[in-house]
Amino acid sequence: MSSIKLYNPGPVNVSTDTYQAMSSAMIGHRGSDFVNLYSDIHPKLQKLFGTNSPVYLSTSSAWGIMEAAVRNLSTKKVLNCCNGAFSDKWLDVSQRCGLEAESLSAEWGSPIDPVELDKKLSTGEFDLVTLVHNETSTGVMNPLKEIANVVSKYDDVLLVLDTVSSFSVVPIDADELGIDVVLTGSQKALALPPGLALFTVSDNALEKAKSTPNRGYYFDFLEFHKNWEKMMTPSTPCISLLYGLQHQLNKIFDEGLDARFERHEKLNQMVHDWVQLHEFNHFAPEGFRSKSLTCVANNKNIDVPAWIKRMREKHSLIINGGYGKIKGSTFRISNMGDESVETIQQMLEAITDTLEDS
Ligand SMILES: *Cc1c(COP(=O)(O)O)cnc(C)c1O
Repeated sequence: MSSIKLYNPGPVNVSTDTYQAMSSAMIGHRGSDFVNLYSDIHPKLQKLFGTNSPVYLSTSSAWGIMEAAVRNLSTKKVLNCCNGAFSDKWLDVSQRCGLEAESLSAEWGSPIDPVELDKKLSTGEFDLVTLVHNETSTGVMNPLKEIANVVSKYDDVLLVLDTVSSFSVVPIDADELGIDVVLTGSQKALALPPGLALFTVSDNALEKAKSTPNRGYYFDFLEFHKNWEKMMTPSTPCISLLYGLQHQLNKIFDEGLDARFERHEKLNQMVHDWVQLHEFNHFAPEGFRSKSLTCVANNKNIDVPAWIKRMREKHSLIINGGYGKIKGSTFRISNMGDESVETIQQMLEAITDTLEDS
């Protein structure tokens, strides 16, 4: 079987040792084997989320919890911060859940403005803010601390944060920043196959959920909490992925968090150096660029799909040709997960080799 190496921002490459960990023998999810597995990974997850709150495991992709957060936590009006494909979609999802929702928008490629957010919240209309930390579609990393500080001024407004492509790449301090829900998914920075979402919920948010009607069952935060008290999940979880997660967490803490953050920074810089060398521009402004991926503006007007086809055929690897309305006018290169200086170097050589024919 020929395999294609993935340098698109998710799903990313999964290491052989992770696949091996995932093939551990099946266990029941209502017995001590499962309790032991959850109990082993839980403190490590709390550390990565920067929280003392529970970390829940959802057998769904991240969207399950993105939808769950608005369903569980808003009875007034949701303010969705929109500056890319994922954050824009969150507004649509809020509305599809039958909720009152409005956007605070910035241009794709620009960050969310904390001053504008403050203005919106001062109307007193909202009880929930959603923010995508790292907009994977545009390569913009929003100013999290400044935004969280604004939301913290409003006692009855909760903040939900999507860290799908920034989790374990940069530090996330949920408790320190007063973030009520932080969620992530398995197939991006954690370098696992898709199918698992992880999230934390603050005491305040859990209280709020108690008075929110129509939370449903599968994504009811109170069901997650009740089962968490026994170190279990509401329904049968993706146990194989949890073995993979346990393995990845052990690798993360063996490497050391600071070393991991530094590695991502360094690999990201290698891609940035490539961008500069080849006279491309960044789509995201300086100071707001993602550390896990690079969104490159196609200012040289190359045929991106043809280029990707060539790298796939000649070097068995791909990058991404842009997302949503900036498909073709941008391309994206991921440096998430288990990548090293060596693998990023090989990838850059391969995309350079095939760029020459563009
Ligand atoms: C990939 C991604 C999602 C969606 O994740 P799914 O696993 O497809 O549900 C949400 N937010 C961000 C920032 C992402 O990068």
